[in-house]
Amino acid sequence: MLTRALLFLALTCVSTAQEFAPTPAPPSNPAPAAGSTPPVPAAAVRPEFVYSSVHVNAPYIAITFDDGPHATLTPKLLDLLKERNIKATFFVIGKNAAEYPDILRRIAAEGHEIANHSWSHPDLAKLPQDTVRAEISRTQDAITNTIARPVTLMRPPYGALQTNQKQWVHDTYGYRIILWDVDPLDWRRPGASVVSERILKGAKPGSIILAHDIHPGTIEAMPATLDQLIARGFQFVTVSELIKLEVAPTPAPGKPARSGGPAAPAGSSAPAKAAPTPMPFDAVLRAEPQLSPDQAAKLAKPAAPAPSPTPAKKKP
Ligand SMILES: [Zn+2]
Repeated sequence: MLTRALLFLALTCVSTAQEFAPTPAPPSNPAPAAGSTPPVPAAAVRPEFVYSSVHVNAPYIAITFDDGPHATLTPKLLDLLKERNIKATFFVIGKNAAEYPDILRRIAAEGHEIANHSWSHPDLAKLPQDTVRAEISRTQDAITNTIARPVTLMRPPYGALQTNQKQWVHDTYGYRIILWDVDPLDWRRPGASVVSERILKGAKPGSIILAHDIHPGTIEAMPATLDQLIARGFQFVTVSELIKLEVAPTPAPGKPARSGGPAAPAGSSAPAKAAPTPMPFDAVLRAEPQLSPDQAAKLAKPAAPAPSPTPAKKKP
């Protein structure tokens, strides 16, 4: 099982490493077949702070957009989300966040979650710790200095992070590591209808859908995709909200519930025997994210000067 998980991770790295490649993937590319839902990355060995999906008891779902903000596509996407009152999660690249602070502020102001996707989108699994730290810290600072809100989630580029790095990131930043269970492979630009089809085929309660707000076809796919997901009864929440709605899966006979489930009642050290009640949906939406000590200290500093009236730069 471990071998299989590692093999998948390797395949994921190979396939998604071409996210920014100018040429299409060769036919021999060993990525999962089109439309197939990939196996959950490293599910068998996942620590409690790593999520590819969340076990919930109602049709909650999280849609996530990586690699932005993009000068024109992200605002277009925000309009589409607003029209449908959908809250999403944006895993931003630090240097894009720094380039488009007004868009970042709009994302936050409209109730979406903003999370860390590194500064320059390298394969962090191959980098030394100092570089990884710089990639993450610089991005976190760019976000918190702009929107004065803590960051609690990270998605490593290509989903690539070694097990010890995941632990280090969690211990250092307090982040949860967020992967995905629905991947439309939109970075290959297969066309809006294919992106839509793949998302609709893969989505299930508790899913974390991966998409990118830097590809025109992805944005084009969204109206029909979102409308159909709504028609199927899915309720969109941010990733942090989805995690708060987690319920423990019914343990297999002889196996305890995994420790990553919802917190057991105070004073209880044994795993919960029955699936505990998740936080009520309203309460989830009202709950404030928890600050890590580092971020709390930073946010306690005097507020940053008012946003400059300079319009966002346009990207070629
Ligand atoms: Zn990415």
